[in-house]
Amino acid sequence: MKLYSLILLTAFGLFCKGQESLQNKNPFVVVLGTLQDGGSPHMGCEKECCKNPDVSRKVVSLGIIDPVSNKKFLSEATPDFVAQTSMLKALLPSSANKLPDGIFLTHAHIGHYAGLMFLGKEAMNSKAVPVYAMPKMKSFLENNGPWSQLVSLNNIQIKPLSDGNWENISPSLRVKPILVPHRDEFSETVGFIIEGPHKKLLFIPDIDKWEKWRTDIVSLIKEVDHALIDGTFFSAAEVGNRNITEIPHPLVQESMQLFDSLSAKEKEKIVFIHFNHTNPLLNEQSEEARLVKSKGFRIAGINLRIAL
Ligand SMILES: [Zn+2]
Ligand SMILES: [Zn+2]
Ligand SMILES: [Zn+2]
Repeated sequence: MKLYSLILLTAFGLFCKGQESLQNKNPFVVVLGTLQDGGSPHMGCEKECCKNPDVSRKVVSLGIIDPVSNKKFLSEATPDFVAQTSMLKALLPSSANKLPDGIFLTHAHIGHYAGLMFLGKEAMNSKAVPVYAMPKMKSFLENNGPWSQLVSLNNIQIKPLSDGNWENISPSLRVKPILVPHRDEFSETVGFIIEGPHKKLLFIPDIDKWEKWRTDIVSLIKEVDHALIDGTFFSAAEVGNRNITEIPHPLVQESMQLFDSLSAKEKEKIVFIHFNHTNPLLNEQSEEARLVKSKGFRIAGINLRIAL
């Protein structure tokens, strides 16, 4: 009997270990930055928010990693692209490629694409790094210096995306762009749905007010497992003298109201990200951060990992 129990226990132990290593092989997303385009400390800001800046803060970016196919991707090429690329590399040491196996771009605002400059002749002089871009974003890069030189010298190779169509990036990962309303001066703007074998993650770092979107965000949240969404400003109080209508992001206060009727399970999917330097959610101890968490929502922090 004793021997029988021992065999059972060993078998159970092996099974658990197997499950564990299987789980470790799951693709995952990791937050490599949480800030709005201008970063923190913010140019010209003499307010309290930028007095003692936390140097680990980075501009909004996600790493997407598939340990099985040994592939790693970035969403966004931010002004912190160099540091974020090495953070990404460290997360998949088995990959010989120093650079991401692909870079997804949401739109042509500086926080989301300007980091591509480090791939050029003056810096890395990379070879054909795949850059996934929507049609206007693609033609913006192809037709305007210095980006056009990245294309002509084959530092980057643009992979065209189209609204609502899945792009397979590994045997177990795919990405779908969805158009969102935003100040589209140079390109359209998209969010992404990133899907692994088990979970779907929605990423919308920048969007104008939710009601300007034809898609119903509340229904979309029900279709995904995690939603990393625009939390640029907590409230209008942060905007100071600037006209709030010129910066029409959904305020976190408004989003919480919109999502108020969702169940606790649905609320837990929502992770605010893309914080302006003024946003009190950057300080986990702030009253506002505590309020957001007490209502059942989450706040993105650097290195947050989400299994797919
Ligand atoms: Zn942005
Ligand atoms: Zn500041
Ligand atoms: Zn933007």
